[in-house]
Amino acid sequence: MALVDHHCHGVTTQALDAAGFETPLGLAIRRHCAPVLDLPAHVPAAEYLDRRSALGPAEVTRRFLATTGTTHYCVDTGFRPQGLTSPEELAAVTGARAHTLVRLESVAEALAADGVEPDAFVAGFAQRLEAAARSAGAVGVKSIAAYRVGLDLDPARPTPQEATAAARAWLHRGPAAGGWRLDDPVLTRVTLAAAVQLGLPIQFHIGYGDADIRMHRVDPSLLTGWLHSHRVPVLLLHCWPFQRQASFLAAVHPHVHLDVGLALHYVGPTRAAAVLAEAAELTPFGKLLYSSDAFGLPELYHLAALTFRRALTDLLSARVDAGEWSGADAERIAHLVGAGNAARVYRLAEARG
Ligand SMILES: [Zn+2]
Repeated sequence: MALVDHHCHGVTTQALDAAGFETPLGLAIRRHCAPVLDLPAHVPAAEYLDRRSALGPAEVTRRFLATTGTTHYCVDTGFRPQGLTSPEELAAVTGARAHTLVRLESVAEALAADGVEPDAFVAGFAQRLEAAARSAGAVGVKSIAAYRVGLDLDPARPTPQEATAAARAWLHRGPAAGGWRLDDPVLTRVTLAAAVQLGLPIQFHIGYGDADIRMHRVDPSLLTGWLHSHRVPVLLLHCWPFQRQASFLAAVHPHVHLDVGLALHYVGPTRAAAVLAEAAELTPFGKLLYSSDAFGLPELYHLAALTFRRALTDLLSARVDAGEWSGADAERIAHLVGAGNAARVYRLAEARG
């Protein structure tokens, strides 16, 4: 079954270090990734690393990404430290198609870095976003409001006075130590209003993330007011531990979709089927998508696809074995979840990339 990976990041060409193996992920790599490099499962870390460097980064990347059966990658280019592949480079190395997702906060931060005047922020942002999406042939945009301000967003578009005052305060405050960081709720609403105007699907980070996440502020049900006010396609990403809330939202709002991509990395293979099953409890089958949320290590793309395929197979075969569904229905649903839904929502047949 071919996959469309509707949210991932670039691949790093940097080497893997030995310390990374002393984790559950390290064990999964020795178990499931070693055979892709022609080594026995559970090979010692040192041998794995030797083989990896003998093959070289390009061959390692090509092998792992080929195992995923991914025909399209939708790449979030907003968070790109040195050495990550661009969508074009990812396409070149895999032979798959790669599309761009524009991160709203990154566009706002670049605008601030270029010295925008507070009263020009709203128009300037809309212009930049449109230009960034057009030049990359973007298939969607991504919001990390969850990380920065939480999801309890006033659905109304800020008035020009509100927006200018917020821009003045934020620009006056200046960049943080790591550079400009959009963390103002009014300006976040400005970025979302421009995204709605643009009309592309909007991905929202939901739930699990790094230490910046305030878990009580990233429950997707906090977006309910916003979802009632806007009708562009919305994709709730990852969602753990709120996959049931996300599932409810997808069931009642025609434009809401979800995945549990990142969550499957962390809950491990034995719980992945259960988490996917919770996400699928209410979600119509036309609304559930696959993402790897892989970032950097080519091994992560391989493990994500493997975990997802197993979890989906477990879920569907349980229903077929129980006599609830026919094999043909299960197969049709597998293709929708693995590829068809993403192809439809992001209009990939018409997309550049
Ligand atoms: Zn991501």
